[in-house]
Amino acid sequence: MSRNDELFARAQRSIPGGVNSPVRAFRQVGGTPRFFERGAGARLWDADGREYIDYVGSWGPMILGHAHPTVVAAVQDAAAHGLGYGAPTEAEIVIAEEVMKLMPSLEKIRFVSSGTEAAMSAIRLARGATGRTRIVKFDGCYHGHADSLLVKAGSGLLTFGNPTSAGVPADFAAHTIVLDYNDIAEIDACFEKFGHEIACVIVEPIAGNMNFVRGTPEWHARLRELCTQHGSVLIWDEVMTGFRVALGGAQSLYGIRPDLTVLGKVIGGGMPVAAFGGSAEVMKFLAPEGPVYQAGTLSGNPVAVAAGLATLRLIQEPGFHDRLGEQTAKLMAGFQAAAESAGLPLAVDSVGGMFGFYFREGLPGTLSEVHTADVERFKKFFHAMLDRGVYLAPSAYEAGFVSAAHDGAVVAETLVAAAGAFRAVA
Ligand SMILES: *Cc1c(COP(=O)(O)O)cnc(C)c1O
Repeated sequence: MSRNDELFARAQRSIPGGVNSPVRAFRQVGGTPRFFERGAGARLWDADGREYIDYVGSWGPMILGHAHPTVVAAVQDAAAHGLGYGAPTEAEIVIAEEVMKLMPSLEKIRFVSSGTEAAMSAIRLARGATGRTRIVKFDGCYHGHADSLLVKAGSGLLTFGNPTSAGVPADFAAHTIVLDYNDIAEIDACFEKFGHEIACVIVEPIAGNMNFVRGTPEWHARLRELCTQHGSVLIWDEVMTGFRVALGGAQSLYGIRPDLTVLGKVIGGGMPVAAFGGSAEVMKFLAPEGPVYQAGTLSGNPVAVAAGLATLRLIQEPGFHDRLGEQTAKLMAGFQAAAESAGLPLAVDSVGGMFGFYFREGLPGTLSEVHTADVERFKKFFHAMLDRGVYLAPSAYEAGFVSAAHDGAVVAETLVAAAGAFRAVA
């Protein structure tokens, strides 16, 4: 028995499924999750002392690589001053100003501790600001695990949503309308029927929780237009894309100004920081200024904020995202070439430091198209890469991440592994 096996067996005696977040359990790919002891730059070391090149990056936050010395020093310095006070600190203002500078659609911002909390609060705020109840989300987008968001489409177009988790009352799900990603006709029909009842539309501008799917510019423009026409709040969930696909997030690439933006992951540099913010007009409804309640003991925690702030400063180095995007594109082009020589169809895409690949011809635009990729082959490929020292997300439905520490040599090493892995699964 390996030490990873021992730890996993032991973990299952105290923690449900042995993990504190389900995808970590490797259920989709089978096998034993790796328990990590250490990370540095692009690499991780597990409990058996095995080394991996990491393309999960803690699911997105580690855009600078693991244990970046400047970030670690900022955390140590903040911790030495005190771990938290539950009272305001100057660091919160500094990070707020920094984020508002990078994303001009945020005129006000509130910090919280997780993306789930941020998305849930943004929806409550949209409902409070509009006095409406219905919300619209898209199939395949993930916005955390708040009750109103764990919902799939009902039996017909524009019918009540159904819960995707036990424990979510059908009454809660009934207020959520779930539509197909990238489908302009559906969103038009939805607003025609319910326009005056829709509090908000929440969307991942580039979806990273059904592998990697770009929203089309035409569809995003239509969402913006319809929300403006009907007085609904457009919420862009940039928890994954924020500071990752570009310094100014996906909104800087599409040139669209959401009313509210949800942030997480990179904004905390690996620590529990998330935020939501947007137009002052909507944000003024938030307590203590307005009637929409929202609070948090650990919100704006100074040690967590120190990690986020150090990260946000380092990624502003000129050319940072260009270099990140080049390495990521090189990685994906290499995957595609290696798959092709192994005789396998593979579709690849990336923006900035975020990527996706599919065992299918052509890139998908909706969740049902994502489902047509060959998942069995992905599982084999995942393990073939793991055996060769490359740690990919243990699921065919997650985007991958490259950090600034993934230089040409790291990418080249990965592509040697990928060539062997594609041949092995062909
Ligand atoms: C990760 C993620 C969330 C949830 O964030 P947590 O910090 O895990 O609660 C929300 N939205 C998107 C787009 C995400 O990728």
